[in-house]
Amino acid sequence: MLHPLIADPSATRHILKKFKLRAVKGLGQNFLIDAGIVRQIVEAAEIFAGEDVLEIGPGIGTLTQGLLETGAKVTAVELDKKLPAVLKETLAGYENFRLVEGDILKINLAELMPRRFKVAANLPYYITTQILLTLLEKNLPVTKIVTMVQKEVAERMTAAPGSKIYGALSVAVQFRSEPRIAFEVPPESFLPPPEVTSAVVVCDVRKPPFDVDEEFFFKVVRTAFAQRRKTLLNSLASFGKEKLLVSGIDCKRRAETLSLEEFAELSINLK
Ligand code: SAM
Repeated sequence: MLHPLIADPSATRHILKKFKLRAVKGLGQNFLIDAGIVRQIVEAAEIFAGEDVLEIGPGIGTLTQGLLETGAKVTAVELDKKLPAVLKETLAGYENFRLVEGDILKINLAELMPRRFKVAANLPYYITTQILLTLLEKNLPVTKIVTMVQKEVAERMTAAPGSKIYGALSVAVQFRSEPRIAFEVPPESFLPPPEVTSAVVVCDVRKPPFDVDEEFFFKVVRTAFAQRRKTLLNSLASFGKEKLLVSGIDCKRRAETLSLEEFAELSINLK
């Protein structure tokens, strides 16, 4: 069956008009209208036929169509109650598509995706961080996460210690994966265009490099960055100043200067 391409400005306008829809700002709806970008995302995810892929927020099915064309089994979670009727029509005939209606932050992903899977998504920007942290939970068999995010978030995900934008998100993403910015995407590739430049980040998920109590490790990281301008001695005082002073890490330093390894060492010593 030959499907008309959704990733095109006039096709997208036609679908929105036909279903009397407007992009809902509060739901982060900026629909892709650039077939080249869809192709680049699919290529970056290195998807092959038969594998499980999770998409977050399929919208009117633009990226979904590119994913389905690979022959992968695509599960898409969409919150907007108006969109299932649209997707039923735009993606009609794709046997490898499963739509789940609901909130990605509330769904039990371990149950929904029990086998190894990849994620490909043009994320709703108002909840990017929460979604990324949910996907990086330790119990999920996810192997690769390819997401469109704001360029500024992409830079935080991949930031190195010592830079102003290095924070809890950088540590969480880099603890669980090897992230890289694949390419940037200009506002004109979307309808309506967002106010920011976007970027696609590829995260190759791997086993964490250090053997730590992860819950406690992240508690230390979050606490240290909650008051990032303070020295570790002040921001982490609640864990015990004595332990801090003998931890082997200079407590006059700030959280933003600590490498992943140093956070791991600190969390072991503070426990
Ligand atoms: N994938 C489509 C595309 O590339 O054109 C749409 C991407 S749009 C940036 C984000 C999508 O996420 C919208 O369809 C929006 O309704 C959906 N969304 C917003 N919040 C969500 C949530 N909590 N759970 C699932 N989907 C959500």
